[in-house]
Amino acid sequence: MTAFWTSHAFATEMNTALAAVQMAGKLCRQVQAEIDPGALAKNDKSPVTVADFGSQALICRALNEAFPNDPVIGEEDAAVLLEAGNAAMLERVVGHVAAHVPDADAQNVCRWIDHGSAQTFSDRFWTLDPIDGTKGFLRGQQYAIALALVVGGELELAILGCPNLGPSLADERGDGTVLVAIRGHGTWQMPLIGEAEPMRVTVSSQTEASRIRFCESVEAAHSAHGDSARLAARLAIAAEPARLDSQAKYAAVARGEAEAYLRLPRDNKYREKIWDHGAGVLCVTEAGGRVTDVLGADLDFTRGYQLENNLGVVVSNGPQHDTLLQAMAELGIGRFED
Ligand code: AMP
Ligand code: MG
Repeated sequence: MTAFWTSHAFATEMNTALAAVQMAGKLCRQVQAEIDPGALAKNDKSPVTVADFGSQALICRALNEAFPNDPVIGEEDAAVLLEAGNAAMLERVVGHVAAHVPDADAQNVCRWIDHGSAQTFSDRFWTLDPIDGTKGFLRGQQYAIALALVVGGELELAILGCPNLGPSLADERGDGTVLVAIRGHGTWQMPLIGEAEPMRVTVSSQTEASRIRFCESVEAAHSAHGDSARLAARLAIAAEPARLDSQAKYAAVARGEAEAYLRLPRDNKYREKIWDHGAGVLCVTEAGGRVTDVLGADLDFTRGYQLENNLGVVVSNGPQHDTLLQAMAELGIGRFED
């Protein structure tokens, strides 16, 4: 495969990060294949944790080796694996990681995982969600492995692996897709596993508000479904929302399968995590779309591990953005008393 980024200044970063996400994607699919549906129904969280840790270990191992000075701001750390009673889980994580790299033992795996829980920021850092959409992973639905490089507050690279996403959202359970974006060079997709030419993706050109197809979280705790329903009524949007877990929602907008992704705050307190948005934001903006918070402010990736200066997230194909923001303002969405 001759990738379009071969001569880009960040070519080594992209090659390293993409290969790591692909490897993590294989690990996640292997863990998922082991999940017994009975265990799922009982809400046994152990398979999930194994994949979260395994994915973070593989990706951080690769980043640490290639770019030892870059902090990685990831979702997990190894502390829980070292607690009494969790030795069997640690052993399972090591087993899964060892299927992909030769130097996996308990000590190295914990060290790699902890490399991804950096507390200190520098001008250049990576942000990683090793499994975004844990609940989707448990349900056998959409989840994502999301990795982005931030330099001087700008998103420069995004790798958004979606192990259950097929060529179309209509495919309930696909073979896996990865979207990659480089600032100034567009957004591209290819199958997550195997060799294939990346294909460019662009957002929908739809401009009519009533024809907006939007996505939102499956989990009502993560986004106010009542407010999105009020917004849909206000704009006479006919289509039902597509409810998906993870940053697969950003992929849907970037690929033109939805005109919007709404993440409407339920209160004034919750701050979005950078690893839940970094990769998705660049994939959408490089595909021609727009991303702000519910009040219309740009997302600010310079405030630590949270988007401290933002409330909620509004993602669109572009032409519909101001219409959405204005209707939200009229309905008081995202405007809280305290
Ligand atoms: P999604 O799959 O889009 O529903 O998002 C999953 C992400 O939601 C997780 O990675 C969490 O970091 C994040 N999350 C957890 N609690 C909240 C909350 N109260 N509001 C918004 N996002 C949340
Ligand atoms: Mg997440």
